[in-house]
Amino acid sequence: MPHDLPKAYDPTAIEDHWAEYWVREKLFAQPTPKSGPEGPSSFDILLPPPNVTGNLHMGHMFEHTESDILMRWHRMRGERVLWVPGTDHAGIATQMLVERQVVSEGSTRQKMGRDAFIERVWEWRRHYGGNILNQMKRLGASVDWDREYFTMDERLSVAVREAFVKLHEQGLIYRGAYIVNWCPRCQTAISDLEVVYDEHKGHLWEIRYPVISEDGKDTGEFLIVATTRPETMLGDVAVAIHPDDERYTHLHGKMLRLPLMNREIPVITDDWVSREFGTGAVKVTPAHDPNDFALGQRHDLPSINVMNDSAEINAEGGKYAGLNRFVARKEVVADLEAQGLLAAIKDHVNNIGHCDRCKTIVEPRLSLQWFVKIQPLADKAISAVRDGHIKFTPEMYAKTYLNWMENIHDWCISRQLWWGHRIPAWHCSACHKTTVSREDPTHCAQCGSEKIEQSTDVLDTWFSSGLLPVSVFGWPRIAGAKDVGAPGASHLGTWESDRRDFDTFYPTSLLVTGFDILFFWVARMIMMGCWFSLDVPMPDGSPRSLAESVPFREVYIHALVRDANREKMSKTKGNVVDPIEIVKQYGTDAVRFTLASMASPGTDIAFNVARTEGYRAFANKIWNAARFLFMNIDRAAEAGITVDTAALGSMPAAEPGAPLEGRWIVAELHGTAEKVNQALANYRFDDAANAIYQFFWGSFCDWYLEIVKLSLDFSEAADKARVTAALTTLVSVFESSLRLLSPFMPFLTEEIWHAVYDGKPPAKSIALTRFPQSGDASADTVALQHMRLLQELIVEIRALRKEIGVEEKALVPVELRIDQQFRTVISENHAIVERLARVSDIRFVPQISDGLAKHATPQFDIAVVYERKIDVAAECERLNKEIARQEKNVANADRQLGNPTFTAKAPPHIVEGLKKQRDEAQHVLDKLRADRDSLGC
Ligand SMILES: [Zn+2]
Ligand SMILES: [Zn+2]
Repeated sequence: MPHDLPKAYDPTAIEDHWAEYWVREKLFAQPTPKSGPEGPSSFDILLPPPNVTGNLHMGHMFEHTESDILMRWHRMRGERVLWVPGTDHAGIATQMLVERQVVSEGSTRQKMGRDAFIERVWEWRRHYGGNILNQMKRLGASVDWDREYFTMDERLSVAVREAFVKLHEQGLIYRGAYIVNWCPRCQTAISDLEVVYDEHKGHLWEIRYPVISEDGKDTGEFLIVATTRPETMLGDVAVAIHPDDERYTHLHGKMLRLPLMNREIPVITDDWVSREFGTGAVKVTPAHDPNDFALGQRHDLPSINVMNDSAEINAEGGKYAGLNRFVARKEVVADLEAQGLLAAIKDHVNNIGHCDRCKTIVEPRLSLQWFVKIQPLADKAISAVRDGHIKFTPEMYAKTYLNWMENIHDWCISRQLWWGHRIPAWHCSACHKTTVSREDPTHCAQCGSEKIEQSTDVLDTWFSSGLLPVSVFGWPRIAGAKDVGAPGASHLGTWESDRRDFDTFYPTSLLVTGFDILFFWVARMIMMGCWFSLDVPMPDGSPRSLAESVPFREVYIHALVRDANREKMSKTKGNVVDPIEIVKQYGTDAVRFTLASMASPGTDIAFNVARTEGYRAFANKIWNAARFLFMNIDRAAEAGITVDTAALGSMPAAEPGAPLEGRWIVAELHGTAEKVNQALANYRFDDAANAIYQFFWGSFCDWYLEIVKLSLDFSEAADKARVTAALTTLVSVFESSLRLLSPFMPFLTEEIWHAVYDGKPPAKSIALTRFPQSGDASADTVALQHMRLLQELIVEIRALRKEIGVEEKALVPVELRIDQQFRTVISENHAIVERLARVSDIRFVPQISDGLAKHATPQFDIAVVYERKIDVAAECERLNKEIARQEKNVANADRQLGNPTFTAKAPPHIVEGLKKQRDEAQHVLDKLRADRDSLGC
């Protein structure tokens, strides 16, 4: 048995190898089931698709680590596991990136034209779009690469089109002029969620609007309005006041002259106006402010849009036409001042919205957009969560979700971009009606004219990603009857196989994602999943209930990864940890284990390299344990003893008559397996990782390996049966530990596991074996109790040896007083105590001899028999120094505890801790003084 493992653990070498092997061997592919959804239960999730422009960051690595642990765990429990990967076409982000390239080459997308530009984006995607998924492959994510999707794939595009047409047929899609957040740089509407607000020090300009008489003459009176965006006054259509504002009662029904534009506008009254804000009179600009827009609707006012797509003043802005909005602002203010119409300029802090993508100031602006009438979809999405068909972990997110969903507005789904799913609507220039169609039409559905043109808008990226849970499993094709020409053609399989996929994998089991896309994505998937999957009958043909329509049954919201000082990672702060770099340094397994061990619910992770160093040392420990094991297997083989690997792969059990350490480590393994299984079922990755760590480093390496060495005697005289039994337990517990650890450290365990089987493993991968489950027979409480006693005894002897200064190597006798009932345990296992505590002889005594320093526990008293030859003068000096130090400690603590301000203000646990420290110092001090007295210093 060569069991070749290099001397040093080198993660890079083994990780590259296995990552490539897992993909090449398609180990995690989950083909369409051959028959219906019968068979093992399914556990499947969709990867929240990263942007195709993206690179892996620490947040991804954390999310993928948690998902991968769950996937590997479920797979090893024998479930039908599927993890579907893919990327999002990311409309704005991708278009911006390619546009920048085109500009750097001296062209623009406008010069290129739409078709050429889109072809250019596809080309970019072919070259660079796989980057993030390749990084996932390297990190070993156990996804099914055969099912990789891209949101612009033909079959997913068919679903997008069907969803749009269907909602339109259902009267849930409409086109209307509304105020949207307009990004003048990206030249598109963006959603409320894509606007980030910053506080800016700006101004509030107060402007005099002349009141005019019925025949249009100035009355000499002014109504003063306040605004933060004076250039928008070019589009004013009224000034509003509160009906009960007594300052302005005499102006009800009067007209004003709009300065600079010379337009007559009415004074209107509306309860919405706040009497306290500014002067209590507000200008009304329906085309440039959402509140004004609503006001305009209520009072039947026109909307005058004074800006073009680049936020320059258009022809409606009179002499300011052609000016950029900020230049126009300066000129408007200067002109008002010159005309004596500027009443005041006040400092004002306002919240300004910026485009999340390009940071340009967003311009609220009236434009013609497509909307989804969201209420019916939201109602279902609310019921799905409220009725418990979707469970959130942590639970509080259900409330956040419901709160948002209950206040939802109609969803603006059109974007003025080129890259994305083009809206399947054709405008007719003859009758000005719109044709919405599944197939590209050749003529207007209303008047038959051929003068039709497709809308230039594309759909919001989230419209397609919101459909993913249904579309990746074959909707809409499978919603139609098998032999009816359902829209689109699947290039993946037949109608039947798509149906089997849907029946088997929908609803998906779980979504693992971050809080930041709860509204963007999670909410939209729930709305669209619940709405569209209702079309798909259940496998037995019965109608689908809401419970079976949800896109996933559970949502697990993970924490954020921050830097070691709990600061958010950001490029500007320069504190970004690149997962690829950190993996190069410590290995994927150590980084994964760090992330898992820190993933306690509800708290963000303060990523700390020191922890990763610690887990790199853990990986080393496992590696060295394997090498120790293999060395012994080889030595055993030379002595004619072989370990039967056929018995491996299940949970080890120990014979009742087996040695204590064997029964104990098996019981510990069962207990750990139970803890890990339970922790993972509750998304407690931290508890699971820590249980494994304690078991492997503490129980297995520190205790068991040290004890079992006593039995690994390969000499002629040795008891062969005993050696074989010990070696068999050792190997089988170790092999089980590898399986327990495998979801957390897949590479290291894969490498060692193959070595255990010496190149002839029973499966292609440890990932395809069974996860350790604790059985009923596991609770060998006697073994656990007896071993605990031995451990306590050894720990006490070690402590005593230290206290009285026994040289490390010296073997010393001990005196032990212990109840009769435990005496046998100790005498049967005396060799363990002797080896681990370096004891030459255990003397059972009814009482510890006078003059020996002893430790007492509830179960035993123990003393080390040892006479030190000491230099009395030196020892007295040492004792005096130590006594002085402890006296200082006690005095310091007393002073602090005697200070009423401190005891009143410090948290109780600090005060308690200090008291404890004080008592301990006093205890040590008493002992030192006694020692000094006995020496006669
Ligand atoms: Zn922008
Ligand atoms: Zn027409």
